[in-house]
Amino acid sequence: MWRVFDGHCDVLSKLLENDSNGFSMGQDNLDVTYPGMLQSRYLLQNFAIFLSATSGRLRLEELLRSIDLFHQRILSQPGMTLIRTSEDLKALCSENGNGRIGAMLSLEGADVLNGNLAVLRILFQLGVRSLGITWNHANWAADGIMEPRRGGLTGQGRMLIEECNRLGMILDVSHLSERGFWELDELSVRPYIASHSNAYSICSHPRNLKDDQIHAIIQRSGFIGLTFVPYFTASTKDVTMDQLLVHIDHMCALGGERCIGFGSDFDGIDQWIVGLENASHYNRLAEILLKHYPEEIVNQILYKNAIEFYSRELPD
Ligand SMILES: [Zn+2]
Repeated sequence: MWRVFDGHCDVLSKLLENDSNGFSMGQDNLDVTYPGMLQSRYLLQNFAIFLSATSGRLRLEELLRSIDLFHQRILSQPGMTLIRTSEDLKALCSENGNGRIGAMLSLEGADVLNGNLAVLRILFQLGVRSLGITWNHANWAADGIMEPRRGGLTGQGRMLIEECNRLGMILDVSHLSERGFWELDELSVRPYIASHSNAYSICSHPRNLKDDQIHAIIQRSGFIGLTFVPYFTASTKDVTMDQLLVHIDHMCALGGERCIGFGSDFDGIDQWIVGLENASHYNRLAEILLKHYPEEIVNQILYKNAIEFYSRELPD
């Protein structure tokens, strides 16, 4: 029977803006809640720390507060288990979760590190296991995909990548500029992920991956989390789950059958695919997937591909 892996959600960012016990209670203003995850048989969720520059939160104190919220609001739930190592993941999967849900921590945008790799190392110690180099804009390490000058990595950005490789911090290319992507591809000695991006040739939003990028990630045995952002999925008014399947078909046609999964971007979006509006709706997505693909493929896409990737890439 299928389980759910989700590679990107922003519930920590919402809690940072407005701390509440909504995650445990299943409150409406949160897409990802503990009751919702239980309903959809989640096995593993990646929780992103995102500090918005515009809200003036780009400070180390806010970074630490996000990690505290992860412990106080997320990991405090009875079945939630912190996943830091391949051993943790193995234990989680050995009994198919046995009522537990794994929680991983990531940082979206290296801005707050301010070039200080000591902070990166401390974050790794604190359990952060993946890093998006940029959000949409430029920072000290690289240009984001929306930065008009379309630059790649800075000298410091190259050092960041080398240090991530050395530590085992998984690199995430969602939001990174195209030039930055190719420089990272060349420099990184380890496979990397695009935690929440779709296929550009199906929906030509700049946040999506071009075919050669998808191909490069597959070649490196990386992982792509298809995302539920409606305007990354289709340019029609009401975007349906069937339209998301077109991205799956495309990535599979490029050879990605064992490299794709989902990264919803729940709690980071204010528009949703019709019927796919919160964690509990993965049930509906699974139903639709099972109508279109053999059960074995559905299991690969819903969680097994991600579990296999993280089993290889997390430290022992
Ligand atoms: Zn994002």
